Formats: sequence, structure tokens, C-alpha cells
Amino acid sequence: MIEIKIAVCIKQVPGTTEIKIDPETNTLIREGIENIINPFDAYAIEEGVRIRERFDGEEVEVIALTMGPPQSKEILKEAISVGVDRAILLSDRAFAGADTWATSTTLAKAINKIGDCRLIILGKQTLDGDTGQVGPELAQRLDIPFIGYASGILEINRNKMKVKRLMEDRYETFEINLPAAISVVKDINTPRVPSLRGKIKAKSAEIPVWDAARLEADEDEVGLSGSYTQVVKIFTPKIKHEIKMIEGSTGEQVEQLYKELKELNAI
Ligand SMILES: Cc1cc2nc3c(=O)[nH]c(=O)nc-3n(C[C@H](O)[C@H](O)[C@H](O)COP(=O)(O)OP(=O)(O)OC[C@H]3O[C@@H](n4cnc5c(N)ncnc54)[C@H](O)[C@@H]3O)c2cc1C
Repeated sequence: MIEIKIAVCIKQVPGTTEIKIDPETNTLIREGIENIINPFDAYAIEEGVRIRERFDGEEVEVIALTMGPPQSKEILKEAISVGVDRAILLSDRAFAGADTWATSTTLAKAINKIGDCRLIILGKQTLDGDTGQVGPELAQRLDIPFIGYASGILEINRNKMKVKRLMEDRYETFEINLPAAISVVKDINTPRVPSLRGKIKAKSAEIPVWDAARLEADEDEVGLSGSYTQVVKIFTPKIKHEIKMIEGSTGEQVEQLYKELKELNAI
């Protein structure tokens, strides 16, 4: 019997840092770019699978979720190839243009629909939006505790978990009641590569698609209409390199440098 259901939220992102922006629509150009599983989410998947391996496989089920366009089914197949039990694609035109709040609303509805998820694992942040906001917002939506930057799950059972988290200069350990949500950092594990068996399972895997109707979501709760923020312009800042030689004695140079930095509001 399934004692612990784990939901792993993963996002498909452009597999390049050379992000190109469509000047007309102000959105990222995703066509012709290889899309990948968001790097931090590979660690989230691995941690879910490792928890199942700690228990007799029967007791734990790992479910991968993504909200995205139809082609993001590819990352769910990849997640199945490295060990998740099943996957669900949340896809609907109504979900387009979602900000982090609308994204977490959609994910929360799906997790409630799956029912009885004891742990939700997310990546620390994505390569493209890069806000790190979805984790805490999702926990808020589900009214459950959230631990960010998790670097180790020390103990876990159906009701409690002991987590180690990475801070800038130390580690902190928390004991929290489940259900709960965590976001993970790269220190937590080393993601495995797909096994042959995993690849075969992924090839024939049926991945259900849940739309707004299936989630019983009102259109004004999701996508652009359910968003409090909208990305109005994405641009790469132009960095100007200018060299200015400062002449004179050391004292004169320091004075001149101080004046220049003051004018640039750099001090
Ligand atoms: C360049 C750019 C800038 C943006 N800036 C903002 C902004 O400032 N504010 C804002 O509200 N929105 C912003 N967005 C939109 C935002 O990317 C989307 O709302 C996105 O779905 C979630 O935000 P994120 O990528 O920052 O995720 P993060 O909060 O960084 O993601 C953390 C974790 O949440 C999970 N997750 C995130 N997205 C999904 C998904 N679609 N499906 C399943 N799991 C997911 C993953 O585990 C991920 O590792 C931006 C988008 C782009 C491309």
C-alpha cells in the first residue's frame, strides 16, 4: 500500500544560456532550441526516487508534474526513464503567460487532485524565470510548511521529516511535519543516468494531460489572467566598457578617482 506519495515539480527550460528574445512578443524564443529538464529539477527527481529506495518500493510513489506546452511531455518521459513511477502534464492555452503565482496555483490544484501527497519536491530555481518563487508560493497555496535549499533528507516517514539545509556559512537542520514542500540544491545528491529498463518504460509510458477543466480551474485563476505580474520587457542590458586614464601624483590620482566614482554614484 502506498504510504508516501511524493510529487516532484519539474520545468522544461531552454538548454542554453544564449537566451534569445522575440522583439515582437517580448517572450523567449524557444523554437529551434533544445529544451531540457531545468538543472535543479534533476536533483529533485533523484531525491524522490532515492526516498522510494529507502523504503520497500511498494510504500512510496513518485509522481512528476510539469505545467507547460505539449512538447514538455519530453521532460516527463525523461523523468520516468530515471525512476519516477508516473507523470502528469498540466497543459492548456489558458495556462500561458503564467507568472509564478499563477504557476503555483495550477500546480496546487493538480497536487490536490492527485490527493494525499506527503512531500512536494522542487528545484531551487529555474534557468529562465530564475525567481525561486514557485516553491514558497506553492506551499502557501497548499497551506503546508516549506524548507528552501534542502541539501539532505536525514529521516523521513509518513508524518515527519528531518531536513538539512544549506545556508551561506552553515547548515541548519529542521524537523517538520508532513505534508510539506522543499526546494533542493545540488549538494543533495548526484542524479543517475537512465537505465535501459528506464528508457524502455519511458518510451511506452502513457502521460495524461490535465487541462483547466480537469483541474476545475477558473480561467481568471491561471495563466496571464491569474497573474499579478507580467513580464513586459525582457532585454539583455548593454554593458559599456570605457577606459579613462587618470594622470598625476598618487594623491591627485586618488582625488580624481574619488571624484569620478562619486559622479557615477558608485560610492
Ligand atoms: C526571463 C523570464 C523572467 C520572468 N520573470 C518573472 C518574474 O519576475 N515574476 C514572475 O512572477 N514570473 C516571471 N516569469 C514567469 C515565470 O518564469 C513563470 O511563472 C514560471 O512558470 C515560474 O517561475 P520561475 O521560472 O521563476 O520558477 P522558479 O520559482 O525559479 O522555480 C522553482 C521551482 O519550481 C518548479 N517549477 C517552476 N515552474 C514550473 C512549471 N511550469 N511546472 C512545474 N514545476 C515548475 C521547479 O521545481 C523549479 O525548480 C519570468 C519568465 C521568464 C522567461
